Amino acid sequence: MPTPPRALTVAGSDSGGGAGIQADLKTMLALGTHGMSVLTAVTAQNSLGVQGAWELPAEAVRAQFRSVVDDIGVQAVKTGMLSSAALVETVAALLADLDVPVVIDPVGVSKHGDPLLAESALDAVRTKLLPTATVATPNLDEVAQLTGVHVREEADLRRAAAAVLDHGPRWALVKGGHLTADTAAGEAVDLLTDGREEHWLRAPRHDNRHTHGTGCTLASAIAAQLAKGDTVPQAAAAAKEYVTGAIAAGFRLGAGIGPVDHGW
Ligand code: PLP
Repeated sequence: MPTPPRALTVAGSDSGGGAGIQADLKTMLALGTHGMSVLTAVTAQNSLGVQGAWELPAEAVRAQFRSVVDDIGVQAVKTGMLSSAALVETVAALLADLDVPVVIDPVGVSKHGDPLLAESALDAVRTKLLPTATVATPNLDEVAQLTGVHVREEADLRRAAAAVLDHGPRWALVKGGHLTADTAAGEAVDLLTDGREEHWLRAPRHDNRHTHGTGCTLASAIAAQLAKGDTVPQAAAAAKEYVTGAIAAGFRLGAGIGPVDHGW
């Protein structure tokens, strides 16, 4: 068997299997890559929310990263929950020395409102992490938190993406999925831009509340596609298609919000 393309996720664990590292590895497998993981934090989590979170020492994050990169090698990296300023700085330093595409999902708060990043880490995300990104994939809450730009309608996505690009990523993919249905005409609209090209990614909005892990899935799908050699616009379009199918197939699990599905 030939060696498959390899993609790495640097993120937190979701014990419920719907988001975080678990969603990333499922996505990477589904898209034909070998997924690897650098764990940053462990969460006790289910369909109702996050009941507890424990961060790993920076040393453990560095050691996992070195183990994977020095022997196996990676063709693309995705980051998710980084928990604290110390881990943001640790991961940013590791990525700055790595010459492969990097997808940064600047995870702030879960859909249930549980904090996955300390507020004191925001500055390090802006000044150290975002400059390492080939693509940054903030949702509208994360855009507001990082740049102060509040998106209320589709036309605001341009201003939001420009504010994200000011922090140094090569591309910004601003996810408009949280725009209300009437402003987005029943579509989930995202804008991908590098400041010159604009790609509007549109998909039908699915009336399904089981969307846990959506952001993790999109970012790791982009990383998987980049590991296979796609350009950023190609990777983003394929990832949007993948996550749209995963949302459509999202299922009930536990008493709360169920996960998107990877076996559709
Ligand atoms: N838990 C972990 C470990 C995550 O990394 C994330 C998102 O990145 C979430 C939970 C949040 O998932 P969601 O907001 O889709 O429910």
